[in-house]
Amino acid sequence: MPDGVWDREVDLLVAGAGPGGMTAALVAAMEGLDVLICEKSEQIGGTGATSAGTLWIPANSPSREAGFDDSADDAGRYLDALTGDGGDARRDAFLADGPKVIDDLIARTDLRFVACGQHPDYRNNLPGAAVSGRAIIPEPFDGRLLGRDFRRVRPPIDEFLLFGGMMVGKADIARLLGRFRSLGNFAHSVGLILRYLTDRVRFTRGTRLVMGNALVAQLFYSLRKNGVPIRFGSALGDLVVEDGRVMGAVIEDSSGTVRIRARKGVVMATGGFAHNEKYRKQFMPNPVPAHSMAVAENTGDALDIGERIGAMVTPDRAGSGGLWTPVSVTPRKDGSTGLYPHIILDRAKPGLIAVNSAGRRFVNEGVSYHDFVEAMFRSNEVVPTIPAYLICDSAFVVKYGVGAIYPVTRNLKSFERSGYAKCAASIEALAEKLEVDAVALADTVQRHNRFAAEGSDPDFGKGDTELNRFNGDPDHGPNPCLGPIATPPFVAVEVWPAELGCSAGLATTADAQVTDKNDTPIEGLYACGNDMGSIMAGTYPGPGTTLGPAMVFGYRAAMHAARPQAA
Ligand SMILES: Cc1cc2nc3c(=O)[nH]c(=O)nc-3n(C[C@H](O)[C@H](O)[C@H](O)COP(=O)(O)OP(=O)(O)OC[C@H]3O[C@@H](n4cnc5c(N)ncnc54)[C@H](O)[C@@H]3O)c2cc1C
Repeated sequence: MPDGVWDREVDLLVAGAGPGGMTAALVAAMEGLDVLICEKSEQIGGTGATSAGTLWIPANSPSREAGFDDSADDAGRYLDALTGDGGDARRDAFLADGPKVIDDLIARTDLRFVACGQHPDYRNNLPGAAVSGRAIIPEPFDGRLLGRDFRRVRPPIDEFLLFGGMMVGKADIARLLGRFRSLGNFAHSVGLILRYLTDRVRFTRGTRLVMGNALVAQLFYSLRKNGVPIRFGSALGDLVVEDGRVMGAVIEDSSGTVRIRARKGVVMATGGFAHNEKYRKQFMPNPVPAHSMAVAENTGDALDIGERIGAMVTPDRAGSGGLWTPVSVTPRKDGSTGLYPHIILDRAKPGLIAVNSAGRRFVNEGVSYHDFVEAMFRSNEVVPTIPAYLICDSAFVVKYGVGAIYPVTRNLKSFERSGYAKCAASIEALAEKLEVDAVALADTVQRHNRFAAEGSDPDFGKGDTELNRFNGDPDHGPNPCLGPIATPPFVAVEVWPAELGCSAGLATTADAQVTDKNDTPIEGLYACGNDMGSIMAGTYPGPGTTLGPAMVFGYRAAMHAARPQAA
């Protein structure tokens, strides 16, 4: 492209204001680069804003300072055992750099993290796995600090909000449920509600942000402090390449196209291919899962644009193409539907089983959300298991809740009417409603109830792992994950596979430089977040598997672009 046809010139152009892109932009700005972020939607945060905000960073300092030691070598051994290979240079860089990235972000920005403490790796029976020390979460953030820009923070999904606008983290849920058990819990609960009521006088939702919303708001706040501009409603549409080097990009907005020269390069952080049918078909199991937890804007633009200029996409180490969770489809008041991800709150609790269309269990229900869906895929090859059914009784619902039916719910009528749940006075009648074999389902429940009384599950080992027990009920015995399904009405909720993130993406170097089919870096082009092929080879080692690498490689992309030779 000849000189003079650029509409604007910057050092680094970042496409996508999710956690990956915002980290890259923030670090590049702190390194002295002139940075611009182009964001397709009108808000920052992407899927990251709707996430739990947990980062998996082995051997991180917040955990060490909280007394939870870990080592990168142990994490490497764990990943070797989990993925069945020795990883690659990207994985080595992630393990070596992860803790330093977090330290540097804490030192130079407004990002603040707390150690989760105990939060087991998802295959904690493998060598090198840890039960604590690897997961961190953002501190709660006060959205009022953003002033008018608070409206630019993408809200969480409706299913994660109380009273239509109040965010609660895992620790808050425990205290709200136990509000009459201690003065501290009561005071905390009252404080949350008073703060929320005050917020609603001025804001459309609560401003006490937790989980992924806190993470992206902290990034946004830090970006504003560093003077990084964000062009909203601006989508990366194409790359401009000269002599094999990316010189800049074409951005599409409501006024047409804008050509932006990027002297040091372009970072693609557009969140992966979740809503791109072509790539779903190419990388995901057949039948292609119909649901995705990613924001609607994530349509695989970076993969498509990258492939057009010769970039390599990595299906070979991407497993089933996604990082999965089971979801139930929630009818909303306005007639639309949402998705409730069954991540940690119900499956491992005592008194719930998952069955396939034959009325048979197919998995240890307490495994990670990713492993649960992988088991659905495997079982579905033999007997229809998509959807599968979570089965429990009314006592379970009152105590723990199931999906979008929150604990303490006694009247299930509205959930039945909306089709969210099926309820019946007997297991046989429930089977009839689900159109599964009634004799088989009754036998499955009876067998499970026997296991619950004995405290052990010889079929699938529910309750055998640290992870199972961590998400079970410590006050329930003899097994914190096994309880009888015995109190009518009996309840079933249908679950489907959906991805939290994509595992197939662009091939990159350890510095997040996109590579071509000969493994050669394409000068001036970087990818991070879900645009980058997952370093975990299609596996989900622990809480924070996508956000940890998204931020580490966003950081590494920025540092590489800021080196003098990248001019
Ligand atoms: C309920 C839920 C819980 C989760 N919890 C966790 C967790 O605790 N830990 C974890 O590691 N992961 C979690 N995840 C997954 C995690 O949120 C995503 O993997 C992560 O947000 C990916 O980051 P990203 O920056 O690549 O993409 P995103 O966060 O999706 O951001 C991409 C951004 O790019 C924008 N965009 C799209 N196309 C373009 C374009 N052409 N030009 C410009 N902008 C564009 C989008 O609008 C969006 O703002 C969770 C996901 C969900 C749904």
